[in-house]
Amino acid sequence: MTERLYLEDSMTAAFDAVVIACEPTKDGYLVELDRSAFFPNKGGQPCDVGTLSGAKITDVNEQGERLWHLADRAFAVGDAVHGEIDFARRFDIMQQHTGEHLLSYCAWKLFGAQNVGFHCALTYATLDLDKPVGHDGIAEIETLANRLAAENARVTATIYESEKDLEGIPLRKHAEGLTAPIRIVTIEGSDACTCCAPHVRRTGEIGQLKIVEAIPYKGGTRCTFLCGMRALSHAQAMQNTVSAIALRFSTSREQAETAVIRQGDELSAAKRELRQAYAALDEYLAKSLIAEAEDVKGKKLIVKVLESVDPKRLRNLAGATMQGKALTVLFSVTGERTSYLLASNGLKTDMGLLIGAVNTALSGNGGGRGTLAQGSARTPSGIGETVEGLRTYFRNVLLHE
Ligand SMILES: [Zn+2]
Repeated sequence: MTERLYLEDSMTAAFDAVVIACEPTKDGYLVELDRSAFFPNKGGQPCDVGTLSGAKITDVNEQGERLWHLADRAFAVGDAVHGEIDFARRFDIMQQHTGEHLLSYCAWKLFGAQNVGFHCALTYATLDLDKPVGHDGIAEIETLANRLAAENARVTATIYESEKDLEGIPLRKHAEGLTAPIRIVTIEGSDACTCCAPHVRRTGEIGQLKIVEAIPYKGGTRCTFLCGMRALSHAQAMQNTVSAIALRFSTSREQAETAVIRQGDELSAAKRELRQAYAALDEYLAKSLIAEAEDVKGKKLIVKVLESVDPKRLRNLAGATMQGKALTVLFSVTGERTSYLLASNGLKTDMGLLIGAVNTALSGNGGGRGTLAQGSARTPSGIGETVEGLRTYFRNVLLHE
């Protein structure tokens, strides 16, 4: 069995040990030591990584009582080795984990909300509360946690040999079915709860605590939070974002929100005006299309290529030309794409059949049935000629209706 150095001292970054087992595995070699400062994947957080006498340690896992280090080379049983953990990574994870204890304490103290889940990844961490906590509540939790962190309280871990020894110790959370020995992590003056992981020595080492998102989750709240340098990086990124927006609006960061809201309002008004302008334009366009309509045995035929008309407008435009027996086929060329729409009134021919001819002529895709069909294609070179060919075809269709 391995002596777990991290249980006693979370700041141990280097240690000497002796190899007690080494087994090949598909990804390298699993090494067991008589003592180790490497914390395994456990308790919702990722393991330590580092080196063992020059070999890379990329994964650490517990298997029952045994602690296995995944190394990229083999060791012999009895080898004296020197281990070094990636302490920057360890410290960052400890900041998140002690931060989680402190935030959970504040949620419990302020709202009676219990922590029911913790996950720490390498870029973010989440904690789940069993109660809904609103926006203002989250801000209160965050503020209290930062105040307590600034008090720089001592964080200690104590191992109790039996459940009986725990009597009289006010625990925030008493996990069911614990078997001795039980490790309690205490933040002096506030929190105490069971925990197996390494922690920073004082709350001041957590740095800033920031809840960046709180969403409803399983009837409670899932908080995504960042501590220490992660919180700083987030603040820097947010500042850069707001600065970029402010620059875009030629205003200060403080005025950026107002500027964005104002532009949104202006955009909505402009869209409304544009819709009205298009409606007037389409009314005019429809009149000119009707004036150009060809009469084929008492049926009106309109075939027209339009420039850059939004495909959504084609439907209303064609609709406005539907007087008596009529067939209207509109094409709208917008750069490389051409959209087309076929609309009819009082005809036996199904537009779903007619669009087949357009699809073939333009190598496009489209469909529909009854009195309406639409599609689009890559704009062919010489679209005018193609459309004239189609006009002849449509004329014949109307002649034989
Ligand atoms: Zn914990």
